[in-house]
Amino acid sequence: MKVSIKAPAKINLSLDVLRKRNDGYHEVKMIMTMVDLADRIDLTSCDSGKITVDVSEGFVPNDERNFAYQAAALLKKKYKVSAGVHIYITKRIPVAAGLAGGSSDAAATLKGLNQLWELGLTLDQLAELGAEIGSDVSFCVYGGTALATGRGEIIESIPSPPPLWVILAKPPIGVSTKEIYGNVKLHRAKHADIEAMLTALENQDTDGIFAHLHNTLEDVTLELYPEVKHLKDQMKRFGADAVLMSGSGPTVFGLVKTESRVNRIYNGLRGFCEEVHAVRLIRTSNTCPKPDESDIL
Ligand code: ATP
Repeated sequence: MKVSIKAPAKINLSLDVLRKRNDGYHEVKMIMTMVDLADRIDLTSCDSGKITVDVSEGFVPNDERNFAYQAAALLKKKYKVSAGVHIYITKRIPVAAGLAGGSSDAAATLKGLNQLWELGLTLDQLAELGAEIGSDVSFCVYGGTALATGRGEIIESIPSPPPLWVILAKPPIGVSTKEIYGNVKLHRAKHADIEAMLTALENQDTDGIFAHLHNTLEDVTLELYPEVKHLKDQMKRFGADAVLMSGSGPTVFGLVKTESRVNRIYNGLRGFCEEVHAVRLIRTSNTCPKPDESDIL
Protein backbone atom coordinates (compact mmCIF):
# COMPACT_ATOMS: atom_id res chain seq x y z
CA MET A 1 0.00 0.00 0.00
CA LYS A 2 1.22 3.46 -0.86
CA VAL A 3 0.03 7.01 -0.08
CA SER A 4 1.48 10.16 -1.67
CA ILE A 5 0.86 13.55 -0.17
CA LYS A 6 1.83 17.17 -0.78
CA ALA A 7 3.66 19.17 1.88
CA PRO A 8 3.31 22.87 1.00
CA ALA A 9 5.51 25.73 2.22
CA LYS A 10 4.18 28.55 4.40
CA ILE A 11 4.89 32.25 4.53
CA ASN A 12 4.24 34.63 7.43
CA LEU A 13 2.08 37.63 6.55
CA SER A 14 2.64 38.85 10.08
CA LEU A 15 4.99 37.67 12.81
CA ASP A 16 5.23 39.23 16.25
CA VAL A 17 7.40 38.06 19.15
CA LEU A 18 5.74 38.98 22.44
CA ARG A 19 8.02 37.67 25.19
CA LYS A 20 10.41 34.93 26.22
CA ARG A 21 8.73 32.27 28.34
CA ASN A 22 10.14 30.41 31.31
CA ASP A 23 10.21 27.17 29.28
CA GLY A 24 12.66 28.79 26.83
CA TYR A 25 10.17 29.25 23.99
CA HIS A 26 9.09 32.66 22.73
CA GLU A 27 5.43 33.63 22.91
CA VAL A 28 4.45 34.61 19.35
CA LYS A 29 1.49 35.87 17.36
CA MET A 30 1.69 35.01 13.67
CA ILE A 31 -0.51 35.01 10.61
CA MET A 32 0.57 32.21 8.31
CA THR A 33 -0.64 31.10 4.92
CA MET A 34 0.29 28.26 2.56
CA VAL A 35 1.77 28.70 -0.90
CA ASP A 36 1.74 26.13 -3.71
CA LEU A 37 5.42 25.26 -3.57
CA ALA A 38 5.39 21.77 -2.08
CA ASP A 39 7.56 18.81 -1.19
CA ARG A 40 6.16 15.42 -2.13
CA ILE A 41 5.98 12.66 0.47
CA ASP A 42 5.62 9.03 -0.68
CA LEU A 43 4.73 6.62 2.10
CA THR A 44 5.04 2.89 1.38
CA SER A 45 4.12 0.35 4.05
CA CYS A 46 6.57 -2.41 4.83
CA ASP A 47 6.31 -5.55 6.97
CA SER A 48 9.68 -5.14 8.70
CA GLY A 49 8.07 -2.81 11.25
CA LYS A 50 10.88 -0.29 10.65
CA ILE A 51 10.73 3.36 9.68
CA THR A 52 13.16 4.33 6.93
CA VAL A 53 13.66 7.66 5.15
CA ASP A 54 15.20 8.71 1.85
CA VAL A 55 15.45 12.32 0.75
CA SER A 56 16.12 13.73 -2.73
CA GLU A 57 18.44 16.36 -1.19
CA GLY A 58 21.66 14.85 0.21
CA PHE A 59 22.08 17.40 2.99
CA VAL A 60 18.71 16.81 4.64
CA PRO A 61 19.05 14.08 7.33
CA ASN A 62 17.65 10.65 6.37
CA ASP A 63 17.50 9.25 9.91
CA GLU A 64 15.69 9.97 13.19
CA ARG A 65 16.68 13.66 12.91
CA ASN A 66 14.28 14.01 9.98
CA PHE A 67 10.95 15.54 11.10
CA ALA A 68 9.00 13.14 8.88
CA TYR A 69 10.72 10.21 10.61
CA GLN A 70 9.82 11.75 13.99
CA ALA A 71 6.18 12.08 12.91
CA ALA A 72 6.04 8.40 11.92
CA ALA A 73 7.80 7.28 15.10
CA LEU A 74 5.39 9.28 17.25
CA LEU A 75 2.29 7.80 15.59
CA LYS A 76 3.73 4.28 15.64
CA LYS A 77 4.51 4.44 19.35
CA LYS A 78 1.35 6.20 20.49
CA TYR A 79 -1.04 3.95 18.52
CA LYS A 80 1.06 0.77 18.87
CA VAL A 81 1.28 0.26 15.10
CA SER A 82 3.21 -2.89 14.18
CA ALA A 83 3.66 -2.02 10.47
CA GLY A 84 6.68 -0.11 9.24
CA VAL A 85 6.90 2.56 6.57
CA HIS A 86 9.38 3.79 3.99
CA ILE A 87 9.23 7.57 3.59
CA TYR A 88 10.56 9.12 0.38
CA ILE A 89 10.77 12.93 0.42
CA THR A 90 11.14 14.83 -2.83
CA LYS A 91 12.34 18.25 -1.63
CA ARG A 92 11.23 21.30 -3.55
CA ILE A 93 10.95 23.71 -0.61
CA PRO A 94 14.31 25.39 0.11
CA VAL A 95 15.83 24.05 3.35
CA ALA A 96 16.49 26.20 6.47
CA ALA A 97 14.73 28.99 4.64
CA GLY A 98 11.91 30.21 6.93
CA LEU A 99 9.32 28.32 4.85
CA ALA A 100 8.65 25.49 7.36
CA GLY A 101 9.69 22.77 4.91
CA GLY A 102 10.59 20.26 7.61
CA SER A 103 7.44 21.02 9.63
CA SER A 104 5.27 20.59 6.55
CA ASP A 105 6.94 17.24 5.78
CA ALA A 106 6.12 16.13 9.34
CA ALA A 107 2.50 17.30 9.03
CA ALA A 108 2.06 15.57 5.66
CA THR A 109 3.54 12.37 7.10
CA LEU A 110 1.05 12.49 10.00
CA LYS A 111 -1.84 12.95 7.57
CA GLY A 112 -0.60 10.33 5.12
CA LEU A 113 0.04 7.71 7.81
CA ASN A 114 -3.36 8.41 9.35
CA GLN A 115 -4.71 7.10 6.05
CA LEU A 116 -2.13 4.36 5.36
CA TRP A 117 -2.41 2.90 8.86
CA GLU A 118 -6.19 3.53 9.03
CA LEU A 119 -5.96 5.33 12.37
CA GLY A 120 -9.07 7.49 11.92
CA LEU A 121 -7.58 10.48 13.79
CA THR A 122 -9.06 13.97 13.44
CA LEU A 123 -7.07 17.00 12.26
CA ASP A 124 -7.18 18.32 15.84
CA GLN A 125 -5.59 15.11 17.13
CA LEU A 126 -2.92 15.19 14.40
CA ALA A 127 -2.19 18.87 15.11
CA GLU A 128 -1.79 18.15 18.83
CA LEU A 129 0.68 15.35 18.07
CA GLY A 130 2.46 17.61 15.57
CA ALA A 131 3.13 20.21 18.28
CA GLU A 132 5.38 17.62 19.98
CA ILE A 133 7.64 17.67 16.89
CA GLY A 134 7.78 21.42 16.31
CA SER A 135 5.81 24.63 16.83
CA ASP A 136 4.91 25.08 13.12
CA VAL A 137 3.72 21.49 12.58
CA SER A 138 0.20 22.12 13.96
CA PHE A 139 -0.41 24.92 11.45
CA CYS A 140 0.91 22.72 8.63
CA VAL A 141 -1.58 19.99 9.60
CA TYR A 142 -4.54 22.39 9.12
CA GLY A 143 -3.11 24.36 6.17
CA GLY A 144 -4.96 27.32 4.71
CA THR A 145 -4.51 30.62 6.54
CA ALA A 146 -4.38 30.88 10.32
CA LEU A 147 -3.60 32.97 13.36
CA ALA A 148 -1.04 31.08 15.44
CA THR A 149 -0.43 31.95 19.09
CA GLY A 150 1.29 30.40 22.10
CA ARG A 151 4.66 29.16 20.82
CA GLY A 152 2.94 28.89 17.42
CA GLU A 153 0.96 25.71 18.12
CA ILE A 154 -2.44 27.25 18.98
CA ILE A 155 -4.22 27.60 15.65
CA GLU A 156 -7.29 29.57 14.69
CA SER A 157 -8.39 29.38 11.07
CA ILE A 158 -8.99 32.76 9.37
CA PRO A 159 -9.93 33.91 5.84
CA SER A 160 -7.31 33.42 3.14
CA PRO A 161 -5.96 36.50 1.33
CA PRO A 162 -7.47 37.38 -2.09
CA PRO A 163 -5.85 35.62 -5.08
CA LEU A 164 -2.26 36.86 -5.37
CA TRP A 165 1.01 35.78 -6.88
CA VAL A 166 3.95 35.16 -4.61
CA ILE A 167 7.62 35.42 -5.57
CA LEU A 168 9.92 33.52 -3.22
CA ALA A 169 13.66 34.17 -3.37
CA LYS A 170 16.30 32.70 -1.10
CA PRO A 171 19.86 33.98 -0.96
CA PRO A 172 22.49 31.20 -0.85
CA ILE A 173 22.71 31.07 2.96
CA GLY A 174 20.94 28.98 5.60
CA VAL A 175 19.66 30.73 8.71
CA SER A 176 19.20 29.05 12.07
CA THR A 177 15.82 29.86 13.63
CA LYS A 178 17.42 29.51 17.08
CA GLU A 179 20.13 32.06 16.27
CA ILE A 180 17.60 34.65 15.09
CA TYR A 181 15.25 34.25 18.08
CA GLY A 182 18.31 34.39 20.34
CA ASN A 183 19.19 37.82 18.96
CA VAL A 184 15.77 39.50 19.27
CA LYS A 185 15.92 42.56 21.52
CA LEU A 186 12.31 42.74 22.64
CA HIS A 187 12.61 46.15 24.33
CA ARG A 188 13.45 47.82 21.03
CA ALA A 189 11.71 45.51 18.54
CA LYS A 190 9.04 46.87 16.23
CA HIS A 191 5.78 45.01 16.78
CA ALA A 192 3.19 43.91 14.24
CA ASP A 193 -0.35 45.26 14.06
CA ILE A 194 -1.98 41.84 13.94
CA GLU A 195 -5.49 43.23 14.41
CA ALA A 196 -5.09 45.44 11.33
CA MET A 197 -3.94 42.44 9.28
CA LEU A 198 -6.89 40.36 10.53
CA THR A 199 -9.28 43.15 9.50
CA ALA A 200 -7.65 43.42 6.06
CA LEU A 201 -8.06 39.66 5.57
CA GLU A 202 -11.65 39.75 6.79
CA ASN A 203 -12.42 42.56 4.28
CA GLN A 204 -10.36 40.95 1.47
CA ASP A 205 -8.58 44.31 1.33
CA THR A 206 -5.44 43.66 -0.75
CA ASP A 207 -3.89 47.10 -0.14
CA GLY A 208 -4.55 46.72 3.61
CA ILE A 209 -2.72 43.38 3.53
CA PHE A 210 0.24 44.96 1.72
CA ALA A 211 0.31 47.85 4.22
CA HIS A 212 0.32 45.65 7.33
CA LEU A 213 2.88 42.99 6.38
CA HIS A 214 5.31 42.89 9.30
CA ASN A 215 7.90 40.51 10.73
CA THR A 216 9.53 41.36 14.06
CA LEU A 217 12.42 38.98 13.25
CA GLU A 218 13.28 40.79 10.04
CA ASP A 219 15.47 43.51 11.56
CA VAL A 220 17.51 40.85 13.40
CA THR A 221 18.17 38.78 10.26
CA LEU A 222 18.81 41.84 8.10
CA GLU A 223 21.46 43.07 10.50
CA LEU A 224 23.22 39.68 10.56
CA TYR A 225 22.80 38.93 6.85
CA PRO A 226 22.86 42.09 4.66
CA GLU A 227 22.25 39.96 1.53
CA VAL A 228 18.64 39.57 2.71
CA LYS A 229 18.19 43.36 2.71
CA HIS A 230 19.73 43.51 -0.76
CA LEU A 231 17.26 40.90 -2.01
CA LYS A 232 14.32 42.81 -0.50
CA ASP A 233 15.45 46.01 -2.23
CA GLN A 234 15.84 44.23 -5.56
CA MET A 235 12.41 42.65 -5.32
CA LYS A 236 10.85 46.06 -4.68
CA ARG A 237 12.86 47.59 -7.52
CA PHE A 238 11.59 44.93 -9.96
CA GLY A 239 8.01 45.85 -9.02
CA ALA A 240 6.64 43.65 -6.20
CA ASP A 241 3.61 45.29 -4.53
CA ALA A 242 4.83 44.37 -1.05
CA VAL A 243 7.91 42.53 0.21
CA LEU A 244 8.71 40.78 3.51
CA MET A 245 11.07 38.16 4.93
CA SER A 246 9.35 34.88 5.90
CA GLY A 247 9.82 33.37 9.38
CA SER A 248 13.38 33.77 10.59
CA GLY A 249 14.55 34.02 6.97
CA PRO A 250 16.46 34.17 4.82
CA THR A 251 13.70 33.70 2.20
CA VAL A 252 12.11 36.94 1.05
CA PHE A 253 8.64 36.91 -0.49
CA GLY A 254 6.96 39.46 -2.69
CA LEU A 255 3.20 39.71 -3.17
CA VAL A 256 2.14 40.66 -6.67
CA LYS A 257 -1.30 41.35 -8.17
CA THR A 258 -0.64 40.53 -11.83
CA GLU A 259 0.91 37.63 -13.73
CA SER A 260 2.77 39.88 -16.18
CA ARG A 261 4.57 41.66 -13.35
CA VAL A 262 5.35 38.40 -11.56
CA ASN A 263 7.14 37.17 -14.71
CA ARG A 264 9.18 40.37 -14.89
CA ILE A 265 10.25 40.10 -11.24
CA TYR A 266 11.05 36.38 -11.62
CA ASN A 267 13.26 37.01 -14.65
CA GLY A 268 14.97 39.97 -13.00
CA LEU A 269 15.80 38.06 -9.83
CA ARG A 270 16.97 34.95 -11.71
CA GLY A 271 19.83 37.08 -13.01
CA PHE A 272 21.60 36.93 -9.66
CA CYS A 273 19.65 34.62 -7.32
CA GLU A 274 19.56 30.85 -7.89
CA GLU A 275 16.53 29.96 -5.80
CA VAL A 276 13.53 31.87 -7.11
CA HIS A 277 9.96 30.55 -7.35
CA ALA A 278 6.81 32.18 -8.72
CA VAL A 279 3.81 30.54 -7.04
CA ARG A 280 0.20 31.18 -5.97
CA LEU A 281 -1.22 31.46 -2.50
CA ILE A 282 -3.25 28.39 -1.56
CA ARG A 283 -6.72 29.72 -0.80
CA THR A 284 -9.26 27.84 1.26
CA SER A 285 -12.63 28.67 2.73
CA ASN A 286 -12.38 30.28 6.16
CA THR A 287 -12.81 27.03 8.03
CA CYS A 288 -10.26 24.29 8.61
CA PRO A 289 -10.21 21.71 5.83
CA LYS A 290 -11.70 18.35 6.83
CA PRO A 291 -9.39 15.32 6.81
CA ASP A 292 -10.86 14.00 3.54
CA GLU A 293 -10.11 17.34 1.84
CA SER A 294 -6.42 17.14 2.63
CA ASP A 295 -3.59 16.99 0.13
CA ILE A 296 -3.55 13.25 -0.51
CA LEU A 297 -2.36 12.87 -4.11
P1 ATP B 1 10.91 27.04 10.11
O1 ATP B 1 10.39 28.04 9.11
O2 ATP B 1 9.85 26.10 10.64
O3 ATP B 1 11.77 27.63 11.18
P2 ATP B 1 12.86 26.37 8.15
O4 ATP B 1 12.11 26.49 6.87
O5 ATP B 1 13.69 27.55 8.51
O6 ATP B 1 11.86 26.05 9.31
P3 ATP B 1 13.58 23.65 7.56
O7 ATP B 1 13.68 23.61 6.06
O8 ATP B 1 12.40 23.01 8.18
O9 ATP B 1 13.80 25.12 8.11
O10 ATP B 1 14.94 22.98 8.09
C1 ATP B 1 15.49 23.23 9.37
C2 ATP B 1 16.45 22.07 9.71
O11 ATP B 1 15.68 20.92 9.95
C3 ATP B 1 17.40 21.74 8.58
O12 ATP B 1 18.66 22.23 8.87
C4 ATP B 1 17.39 20.22 8.50
O13 ATP B 1 18.63 19.65 8.86
C5 ATP B 1 16.35 19.75 9.50
N1 ATP B 1 15.33 18.84 8.92
C6 ATP B 1 14.81 17.77 9.51
N2 ATP B 1 13.87 17.19 8.74
C7 ATP B 1 13.78 17.93 7.61
C8 ATP B 1 12.98 17.82 6.45
N3 ATP B 1 12.08 16.83 6.28
N4 ATP B 1 13.14 18.77 5.51
C9 ATP B 1 14.02 19.78 5.69
N5 ATP B 1 14.81 19.90 6.76
C10 ATP B 1 14.71 18.99 7.74
